[in-house]
Amino acid sequence: MADIVRDEGGAEGGCLCGAIRYRAKGAPEGAGYCHCRSCRRHSGAPLTAFVVFAAEQVEWVSGDRARYESSPGVYRTFCQDCGSTLTYEARYQNKDIVEFHISSLDDPEAFPPNEHTHYRERISWLHVADELPKFPGSMV
Ligand SMILES: [Zn+2]
Ligand SMILES: [Zn+2]
Repeated sequence: MADIVRDEGGAEGGCLCGAIRYRAKGAPEGAGYCHCRSCRRHSGAPLTAFVVFAAEQVEWVSGDRARYESSPGVYRTFCQDCGSTLTYEARYQNKDIVEFHISSLDDPEAFPPNEHTHYRERISWLHVADELPKFPGSMV
């Protein structure tokens, strides 16, 4: 994974109605766009952008998120009151990770994505003009 802008101050965010709030401490492991069909269906958006933290960096401050197992061992969480999409959670390389939708952060400017994943599943009318690496599937 290429270097990203790292914000050692961590991140805070939450859902639209404010019931669910979270905080992540320290630097993230990465940030990227995802073009997969599951992300589209879950978010209602043509693509998603995530910032990735280890589960132990994450503290759920308030609210109880609902979760849906979109593939075996992969959980997508959301607010059951307002419907905001919040995370993609899975075990990756023997570590539990929490990927926050960057759009749910209080300061989404803090974590610019540094790559595109599942690029082969992108919608053809979406034109991406950046120079970031574009992986056909998951990260390599
Ligand atoms: Zn909510
Ligand atoms: Zn995806």
